[in-house]
Amino acid sequence: MNPKAALLIVDVQNDFCPGGALAVAEGDAVIAPVHRAAQHFDHILLTQDWHTPDHNSFASAHPGKKTYEQIELPYGPQTLWPDHCVQGTPGADFHPALQLTRAELILRKGFRRAIDSYSAFFENDRTTATGLAGYLRDRGLTRVFLAGLAYDYCVGYSALDARRLGLDAIILRDACRAIDLNGSVAGIERDFAAAGVQLTNTADLSS
Ligand SMILES: [Zn+2]
Repeated sequence: MNPKAALLIVDVQNDFCPGGALAVAEGDAVIAPVHRAAQHFDHILLTQDWHTPDHNSFASAHPGKKTYEQIELPYGPQTLWPDHCVQGTPGADFHPALQLTRAELILRKGFRRAIDSYSAFFENDRTTATGLAGYLRDRGLTRVFLAGLAYDYCVGYSALDARRLGLDAIILRDACRAIDLNGSVAGIERDFAAAGVQLTNTADLSS
């Protein structure tokens, strides 16, 4: 694999897997392809959704609002989610089958109460940086392969931001699962095409 390549594995956490608070259908099915993909990479990075208990992205923080409803926050539209990935709870843990001891970085995101963070690069205000861009730059990593949950939210927004930062962004489609809320898959795939996000499968990775 190209020495400038990194595998970014997004939010493979209990709450996004079957039985979790915000379960993505077949979310745990990404684990086997993620493990296969990992064999091709020298640099593996993980993200971990990591919210305060009263996080602004939770419907429970907005009396009278329902889960999956969209509201306007100071930084723009925000979908309201069930409480999930609360700091220090079992739901926020990585899925126990995920075995990536070689991972070099765990990047936590969404830890500011007032701002959600789908992307691993910028919070949902689109300007507050997580620091990942600087980390990749300092390490000379310019080619980002993405996998994990969910394809049409955190994986997709991370890939689009990678392109915005001038990085190569390649999504391993078979190593992702989607939420598909209100046409979100079709919508983000249009954005992928416009931004130059590439899609491939783990079987097509070469060592
Ligand atoms: Zn979240």
